[in-house]
Amino acid sequence: MRPTIDVSPLASSLAQPALSDQPASSARTTHAAALPAVLFVDQSGQLGGAEFALLQLAGHCTAHSEVVLLSDGPFRMRLEALGARVQVISDARVSGVVRQASVMNCLRVVPGIVRQVRAIAARARQFDVLFLNTQKALVLGALGKPLHRRPVIWYQHDILTREHFGRVQLSIVKWLVRLAVDHVVVNSQASARSLEALTGIAANSVPVVYNGIDAQAFTRVDGSDMSALRERLGLPKDAWLAGLFGRLAPWKGQHIALDALARLPDAHLVLVGAPLFGEDAYAQRLHEQAAALGIADRVHFAGFQDDVPAWMKAMDVILHTSTEPEPFGRVIVEGMAAARPVIAAAAGGVTEIVRHGRNGWLVKPGDAAALAGAIGTLRADPALAGRLAKQALSDARSEFSVERYLQRMTQAIRQAAR
Ligand code: UDP
Repeated sequence: MRPTIDVSPLASSLAQPALSDQPASSARTTHAAALPAVLFVDQSGQLGGAEFALLQLAGHCTAHSEVVLLSDGPFRMRLEALGARVQVISDARVSGVVRQASVMNCLRVVPGIVRQVRAIAARARQFDVLFLNTQKALVLGALGKPLHRRPVIWYQHDILTREHFGRVQLSIVKWLVRLAVDHVVVNSQASARSLEALTGIAANSVPVVYNGIDAQAFTRVDGSDMSALRERLGLPKDAWLAGLFGRLAPWKGQHIALDALARLPDAHLVLVGAPLFGEDAYAQRLHEQAAALGIADRVHFAGFQDDVPAWMKAMDVILHTSTEPEPFGRVIVEGMAAARPVIAAAAGGVTEIVRHGRNGWLVKPGDAAALAGAIGTLRADPALAGRLAKQALSDARSEFSVERYLQRMTQAIRQAAR
């Protein structure tokens, strides 16, 4: 069943070279040496998509950089393992401010904010460029601009709309971007369009730097003996497995996947990921939903896994089910790099990655019946699934490589330092 949705071709979506192209093969060796000194700031100690993107970049720039985290967690250890210098400047009250925060809530944390702004500015003065990787990092780093007077880059990983964020937060972002950010880099055209709608900054004037995925990490997994791989991961050896990767959160749509599974009598669903940002109640609801639908024996809650390549290779199909527009969706490109057919929710940056019927399959977001239909289609037609997977791997390697990501990002950093 093909969805009746408009999908933009990959070729046109990638044809926005705000930064010039250099051969990817030479990127790793040529751009590292000339890099200015960068202070990276990220709000999270947890490992979300934005943090994986920064991990690659900071790991590449260890010689002249430092990372400030606004809360501690496994992300710090991953950075340090790559040789990055990390400083944690945390404040429990500021970290607790949620996306939909009210004005009163924001006012209560002002003293903590002032402390963090000053601490980040003091560090930033030791570097050439301040690179802000998340929204709280944007707020705290940009507010300190009069103190540090360093060029500020913001890597925008979000779609800046009311579906995702509160009115107050969007308003703060809008004014800080206009007044204190020198360069915005976006992770997709969808993110750029939301920036334009919020701030008036033309979408085609900001560089799109797609996340890079290390396809070799997926190729290295030995998937030739599927039974052995599944046994190692504790998965059923002979079942037909659909995998959904990502933190457990309502807008990631794991509940849609459960509804779809209930329509597919003998398929299994593997949910890989944990509730990273206080979404435990949702995780609990998923267990209850699976029980209520009578499919609990076919749903496998794997929790957070470090070895995503192996888990993806163990699947027959990879699902992406976000109910709100996904800004980018690393898990989609990872599924492609794993040479698995990917079924994705057609909204946001996803349509810049997946071409329906060519390198993957698109369905309407939030539509469990359409998702079940798509899974059924690919299951019934292994030749089609194989063709999609083959093209997906090729596109992941050519369009979303780590080399290309690092080359474009380091170029943006150098431009900012001028
Ligand atoms: N991920 C992981 N282990 C898990 C679940 C997810 O390492 O158990 C990784 C996943 O491989 C991907 C990232 O978390 O690289 C999620 O990024 P994505 O862009 O899909 O979503 P975001 O977290 O940015 O909303």
